[in-house]
Amino acid sequence: MPSRADFHNHSTASDGRLTPTQLVDLAARNGVRIFALTDHDSTEGLAEARAAAARHPGFTLVPGVELSTDIEGSEVHVLGYLPRPDDPELQAALKRFRDGRFERGRLMVEKLAALGKPISWERVKEIAGEASIGRPHVALAMVEAGHVANTTEAFDLYIGRNGPAYVEREKMTPVEAVQTLRRFGATPVLAHPTFITDAEAVLRELVPAGLAGMEVYYKAYDADTVASLRAMAKRHGVLPLGGSDYHGLDRPDEREPGMMDVPLPDEAVREFLEKHLTWLRTAAPT
Ligand SMILES: [Zn+2]
Ligand SMILES: [Zn+2]
Repeated sequence: MPSRADFHNHSTASDGRLTPTQLVDLAARNGVRIFALTDHDSTEGLAEARAAAARHPGFTLVPGVELSTDIEGSEVHVLGYLPRPDDPELQAALKRFRDGRFERGRLMVEKLAALGKPISWERVKEIAGEASIGRPHVALAMVEAGHVANTTEAFDLYIGRNGPAYVEREKMTPVEAVQTLRRFGATPVLAHPTFITDAEAVLRELVPAGLAGMEVYYKAYDADTVASLRAMAKRHGVLPLGGSDYHGLDRPDEREPGMMDVPLPDEAVREFLEKHLTWLRTAAPT
């Protein structure tokens, strides 16, 4: 059964393959009624998503963003739901993030050339289009150039965290990301906690900084994973949330909007809307 709400999705405004319109249409077709667009460091897809959402009766768009931060040994991603996405100061902060990403992409292309796996920087930019350049764009360029069979292999062999062409990005700590989001009235939620080596320690730091929730119902998480993450959220006093993190890429764990293996319960959605997204104009799910 699909989830009524999906709080994590990527469009062509960052590293997703579908335009905001295609994404909203797909979500609506899947039965999603509350849909967050959470592109990396960018809110550029929101205007188009909003227009698309207006064509679906009873469909609510939640403006969002996903910030990537680093700690020793793992990346920590923080989702933010934005009451005022057009705030010029917020936009300036996001632009600083995107510029860091651009530089990082260029450095990865240089490293790949040095490893005898040249790809065209122009092509990477072309694949990214209007989006901020991310590793999935580099991975697709590598597939095109015939260096790897698919994007999973590109990550596994070259640009994954421990790969020889990996480049660290400009550092922002998870606490800084949560504080930055709070400064703009946004609601911070910890993304895909199983990617984090010590999620408990991260939560102990982030909750006092203002973390509101964490992803529990995510993509292909199974029932056992969901149960243990639910318990973790409860221990730390944050709400259990989730989403598909849909990118439209050729990865086996990809799930379409609203199609998480364990659906996000309506009561979790309702509690989140009532406690944290009071600014959102929507009817709570019944
Ligand atoms: Zn993420
Ligand atoms: Zn994501």
